[in-house]
Amino acid sequence: MKKHTKILVTGGSGLVGSAIQWVIHNGVASDEDWVFLSSADADLRNYNETKTIFEEHRPDKVIHTAARVGGVFENSLRMADFVRDNLAIDQNVLRVQKVISCLSTCIFPDKTSYPINEDMLHDGPPHPSNYGYAYAKRMLHISSQAYRQQYGCQFTCVIPTNLYGPNDNYSEGCHFIPGMIKRVAQAKKDSASVMVVPGSGRAQRQFVYSRDLARAMVWALRSYDEPDTFIVSVDADQEVLIKDVVAMVAELSAFEGEIQWDTAKTDGQLRKTADNSKMRALLGDFQFTSLEQGLKETLAWYNANQGHIRG
Ligand code: NDP
Repeated sequence: MKKHTKILVTGGSGLVGSAIQWVIHNGVASDEDWVFLSSADADLRNYNETKTIFEEHRPDKVIHTAARVGGVFENSLRMADFVRDNLAIDQNVLRVQKVISCLSTCIFPDKTSYPINEDMLHDGPPHPSNYGYAYAKRMLHISSQAYRQQYGCQFTCVIPTNLYGPNDNYSEGCHFIPGMIKRVAQAKKDSASVMVVPGSGRAQRQFVYSRDLARAMVWALRSYDEPDTFIVSVDADQEVLIKDVVAMVAELSAFEGEIQWDTAKTDGQLRKTADNSKMRALLGDFQFTSLEQGLKETLAWYNANQGHIRG
């Protein structure tokens, strides 16, 4: 009898991991066996626990999304934790023939030209606020290439831009969209007539719905064997103003108060445009979910899962 391909997803309880679960459960049936791990199954920082869980499941391929992930504040506060945990997790997980891992556009050089593309990843130091996370992630890229060169492993990394979606992390210091969803929900709960948002709203970002990234990663796992990493992002003309995202979240949440901008707070970089032409060459017809639709689904999930929100 033909053996089913066994696929292990690390970080299966996270934003991206749970999106992969959704894509698999809602996609066409395949003869693959999927296993989704969380940190409760094994602490992947620990070599023996990682070895034991891999020996238990004996996967043929891995989608690796487990990582210590956090917003800017968390990253700068716990620099050593981010570098140590991510280096350990990544070195322990690179142990089967094929692994698709996740980098991030926030690990690119701080001083660079835009749009950024895959070739610029190592061209200079990352932003000082997240150098621990960024250098650890860059080493995941280097490790993937080195294992391919020495052992012929099919290790590839994808590079997503800013992500959002169901089952996001809503903890203190979380990413922008979950933070905004939480802020609007609180303003509604307080029947506030004014909601204050940090910054000017003039910054622009390319947001990717987590289930779109999940589809791209599942495609890479099944069909992409090349060493070259690729950026997963909506097109540059889909870059949106932060103030439009806030207005959209407020409208979809039926918040009718006024939005005020606290311009004393930083906007971060005004634009960080990423070039997705490599992905477009590989997956030309890939359809991204519109931001409005993705936010609708994310808010529906948020409202339906009160009491189970992470963070
Ligand atoms: P989440 O924080 O939502 O999830 C992290 C996952 O990793 C969880 O399943 C968590 O398990 C698991 N994990 C963390 N530490 C350990 C550990 N020591 N042992 C085992 N499992 C562990 O992250 P995302 O889904 O957002 O991120 C997925 C990938 O995408 C990461 O590589 C991240 O760097 C990258 N990325 C994320 C972006 C974003 O905007 N979110 C943007 C660009 C890239 P548990 O639930 O049990 O804690």
